Amino acid sequence: MASVTLSGLRKEYGDLTAVDGLDLDVDDGELLCLLGPSGCGKSTTLRMLGGLETPTDGDVHIGGEPVTDQPPYERNTSMVFQSWALFPHKTVLENVAFGLKMDGVGSDEREERAREMLDVVEMSGFADHDPTDLSGGQKQRVALARSLAIEPDVLLLDEPLSNLDKRLREQMQLELRNIHDEVETTFVHVTHDQNEAFTLADSIAIMNDGQIEQIGAPREVYDDPVSLFIEEFLGDTNLVEATVTETTEAGVVADIALGTEIELPTGDASVDAGDDLTVSFRPEELDVERADADASGGADADGGPSITGEITDVLYRGSTVRFYVECAGEHLFFEQSVGADTDFAVGDAVTVSWDPADLLAFAADGDRVGGGGA
Ligand code: ADP
Repeated sequence: MASVTLSGLRKEYGDLTAVDGLDLDVDDGELLCLLGPSGCGKSTTLRMLGGLETPTDGDVHIGGEPVTDQPPYERNTSMVFQSWALFPHKTVLENVAFGLKMDGVGSDEREERAREMLDVVEMSGFADHDPTDLSGGQKQRVALARSLAIEPDVLLLDEPLSNLDKRLREQMQLELRNIHDEVETTFVHVTHDQNEAFTLADSIAIMNDGQIEQIGAPREVYDDPVSLFIEEFLGDTNLVEATVTETTEAGVVADIALGTEIELPTGDASVDAGDDLTVSFRPEELDVERADADASGGADADGGPSITGEITDVLYRGSTVRFYVECAGEHLFFEQSVGADTDFAVGDAVTVSWDPADLLAFAADGDRVGGGGA
């Protein structure tokens, strides 16, 4: 295994800049996910790491050694693709041993190492099978074993699970994590699926427009998104427009499109009266209760901010139910587990409250200006 360093990495295709001066450090033995929407430059970055694409500018180091000018076969990397191109006329064992044969490893050692890798991916019982007999998930395990058999310093995975159905994909995410922990190789895994990145990664590097917008442990990125792009990309949330009405010692007071004012801590960010903000009310941070006769708008039982609204839609989504509440013409959603004590019906009057410290606020340019863990 080896560390990876990408510095000032750039790739242009004619007028299009696919990767735009990207810097990235991956530790020895780390599992890093490159996450981002389609077209943001993830695969191009991975291909430059593996030597399949030549950078327009910048450097690649593997294990501290410069490899930018080395062809793929001189870098000790191995790539797993989403289409598991196994050789159809070779057995599973021969497929896994193929790279070792190319490396000139003797037949006994080849077979021993290929069997070991089949064991790691739990496919020992299929050594003599023809790959065409295997299911999609089994083929992908064999492809993984084949890439790992040559003992690469870095394993590069380009959306390897995206051809699998949802259940199998989720199962393979956990297995991939276990395989990584067993072989202790550095993995760089490309995905556009935030759940996959959260399940797998030690670190997530979120890309936007050819650059890394944020990098950190999954929990860090989720708790402390640096921009509106990250907040929107990481999952469903309620985004509400607001305008700053005054600045205070702790932050700002903003007039929010929910028909009320809120106080927001803004940390060190410079925000002025009149600035427009986007405020994220994450569904899990909303406290929703049935409105009772003596509910007083503007404050909940704990004295925190609250608003009243009406349930307009109830959506069953398997194990959870999503409720939509209309508050001053805006629709907010929140979710509950099926079978939770309090559920609501369309037309119910409710009170929605929150802890201002849990809100995340973003400036008009998308930069985070406070709230949450800032
Ligand atoms: P991602 O993996 O995030 O979906 P890619 O790295 O595949 O993104 O592509 C980034 C951008 O570069 C896209 O706009 C894509 O169309 C473009 N691109 C990728 N490969 C080539 C190529 N060989 N020639 C021209 N444009 C390319």
